[in-house]
Amino acid sequence: AKKLGKNNYQFFTPEMNSAAQHYLKLEHHLRQALELEELVLHYQPQVKIDNGCIIGMEALIRWHNHAMGIVMPDQFIGLAEETGLIVPIGAWVLQTACKQARAWQLAGMPIRIAVNLSGRQFHRFQDQRQLLDVVLDVLKETELSPELLELEITESILMHKLDTTLDTLNQIKQLGVRISVDDFGTGYSSLSYLKRFPLDTLKIDKSFVKDICTDANDRAIVSAISAMAGQLKLELVAEGVEDQSQLDFLGGQQCNYGQGYFFSKPVPAEQASALLRQSVLQ
Ligand code: C2E
Ligand code: CA
Ligand code: CA
Ligand code: CA
Repeated sequence: AKKLGKNNYQFFTPEMNSAAQHYLKLEHHLRQALELEELVLHYQPQVKIDNGCIIGMEALIRWHNHAMGIVMPDQFIGLAEETGLIVPIGAWVLQTACKQARAWQLAGMPIRIAVNLSGRQFHRFQDQRQLLDVVLDVLKETELSPELLELEITESILMHKLDTTLDTLNQIKQLGVRISVDDFGTGYSSLSYLKRFPLDTLKIDKSFVKDICTDANDRAIVSAISAMAGQLKLELVAEGVEDQSQLDFLGGQQCNYGQGYFFSKPVPAEQASALLRQSVLQ
């Protein structure tokens, strides 16, 4: 029985049982996903707002399971973190993304590749003092220029184990790799970290962009973030841009970059290459 409140016990219901079963099944399959080569990366363009050119691609993982079909990251990243599978999966993501970016670089399309590092992934790596090694190994192996790699971390990473986190990020930064703060504005954090950590980019969370055309509060928040990023010399990417009117508002702010369905959904490598070739020709 699971204890809910003081004298309040609830026994596992059939629904909970099947949820538990689903989780077990997911875990079983996830353990084999790497070996069976079921993981793929999709890529979503990051676009310079004033000229429409692609300056980067964010790598987003998808899992094509033989039994369950396509599983989205929100459904398995948490499980991967809990089981520790995030370590080999994260290394695979980094390796695959950098290899792709190197191929684009060699093809005359040197764009940045942005790779997500979740909080628990970061700290697991850090405990094992592995993160820096993994990044170094991947850069060496793929021969990608470090400036073309950007790691997307969340505010929560910056709030834990301050000293070691700062050390790790400084070391990564010294390699020339860029660091970006994902989902900016959604974490419970103080802004003081913006001056303490070696950051390059802030990504305004899509929840602020969604109603930017109608919601005065969201407009105020995005204007304030834009002004602040400008002053701090941080690049700013607006996430979740879905239509022209959102873009028009962002263009009027000091927000130089956008990402979202308006430009493109995340797409497989082939399609991403085609988008890049178009962007270069433009
Ligand atoms: P995120 O890093 O914030 O990624 C952005 C999410 O927003 C992606 O969902 C993307 O498909 C979606 N998105 C992009 N443009 C739009 C738009 O215009 N409107 C809306 N409504 N959504 C948009 P996705 O691919 O399902 O990924 C969800 C989350 O899973 C990511 O959020 C990230 O936190 C995590 N994730 C994805 N790939 C990886 C990975 O390789 N490693 C780790 N650690 N986490 C990952
Ligand atoms: Ca991200
Ligand atoms: Ca985000
Ligand atoms: Ca997210």
